[in-house]
Amino acid sequence: MPGRVRRRVLVTAGPTREHIDPVRYLTNESSGRMGFEIAAAAARRGDRVTLVAGPVGLPTPAGVVRVDVVSAREMLAACTRAFWRADALFMCAAVADWRPRRKRTAKWRKEEESKEFANIELRRNPDILATLARGKGERLVVGFALETGRGEARARSKLRRKGLDYIVLNTEHALGAEHNTVSILGRDGSVRRLSRRTKRAVAEVLVGLSRLAAERSG
Ligand code: C5P
Repeated sequence: MPGRVRRRVLVTAGPTREHIDPVRYLTNESSGRMGFEIAAAAARRGDRVTLVAGPVGLPTPAGVVRVDVVSAREMLAACTRAFWRADALFMCAAVADWRPRRKRTAKWRKEEESKEFANIELRRNPDILATLARGKGERLVVGFALETGRGEARARSKLRRKGLDYIVLNTEHALGAEHNTVSILGRDGSVRRLSRRTKRAVAEVLVGLSRLAAERSG
């Protein structure tokens, strides 16, 4: 793109894993495909893309710099490093809200517990999106909300609470699916509904929208 500064885009994708012991963990259901499609769509438009990915087996899209992480705290550290020079963030990752208060260094043996019950004490993970959005300045920040049922009011309150420009609302039907039906809610009160589109098509719309918003504010 002669004469134009390439935008820097940060995308997160996939689940995080919160280890209980060396072989067991808590996680969220997430294929990572939506985030990988956004990273690919931004790279196709000439953006410089950093993709911070939880454990997923997807190939890295062409032209994208990928940083693999496991836990939410690793994801926060990788995102903090990349965010300060990014122009836009798409926070697609299904971050685990909780982690075990302590990670056992050796395998947790069932013989250590009473026969029927066992407990894992959990500690709240940092909210990566809210943390980054607090220092966002002119950057465009897009979050995702997966809500079961009609979640528009809940998504809107997340948009406000976390200080986002847009939030993309989808349902559990998106999990692992080829197609997605989403509502894109804007800070300005706008709503765009995309019905049964491929994740690639949704990604194209989101990247296009973020470029438009950047052009308007720049
Ligand atoms: O509050 P909820 O988890 O539904 O918010 C979803 C949005 O917040 C997603 O964009 C997700 O990536 C982000 N998130 C985060 N850190 C967390 C939990 C969620 O960045 N600990």
